[in-house]
Amino acid sequence: MIVTAAEDIELLRKAGKLAGEVLEEICKLIVPGVTTWDIDQAAEKLIRDSGAIPTFKGYRNFPASICTSVNEEVVHGIPSKHKVLREGDVISLDLGVTFRRQANGKKQDFIGDTAVTVPVGKISPRLEKLLADTQLSLYAGIQAARGGATLDDLSGAIEDVALAAGYGIVREYGGHGIGYNYHEDPFILNYRSGSRAKLKPGMVIAIEPMFNQGGDRVKVKGDGWTVVTQDYKPSAHFEHSLLIIDGALPEVLTRRPSENI
Ligand code: MG
Repeated sequence: MIVTAAEDIELLRKAGKLAGEVLEEICKLIVPGVTTWDIDQAAEKLIRDSGAIPTFKGYRNFPASICTSVNEEVVHGIPSKHKVLREGDVISLDLGVTFRRQANGKKQDFIGDTAVTVPVGKISPRLEKLLADTQLSLYAGIQAARGGATLDDLSGAIEDVALAAGYGIVREYGGHGIGYNYHEDPFILNYRSGSRAKLKPGMVIAIEPMFNQGGDRVKVKGDGWTVVTQDYKPSAHFEHSLLIIDGALPEVLTRRPSENI
């Protein structure tokens, strides 16, 4: 989408800001012994108490408010009372926040989408590096996401970080336009495809690298949602929603309060 109306940009900022704040809050709950269900409940309460809607709940019948993907789970993991976090795990927390405006009998949504992967207690140095590198690739993508750049400039900046470290890049999932709808065009790959399509000022996009410690192959589990690596090696996932600015760095709409970008 392209946004130009100042009041629409303000609502997107509001949604992004709340998404970043909620994500930072639920990260504080990640300790051994907690269930992914507990994290989901906390996130839903924080979102609804702020007058917003958890974007994912009910989206294509997704049953929870956030996605929680542990270890070999890449994305779209479903929170569960039976999924207890253990020391040494890594967990990806992915959430969307919607503010809904009602005007003239019409409703319009304003959405922010963001994710991080965090350690549960102490993790191995190799996993620490996977998390750090995947976040680094998100930041490299943000640096490349200037108005007038091509989609391939952005995708290539992300890909280069994975290539340098030898990670498998998830091919089937990636970033996307966002804003009035949860998923909009364009689809944004985490590797070069030769796309010369331009990032235009006013575009709102979510970029979300997913890197695997092993191979790039993934599959969807029997629950119809949870994406796992085929070799069951761990995976990491980071995401921000951005507003593209003419010739300059994008505005990071979902920046977390303590995040230095
Ligand atoms: Mg997304």
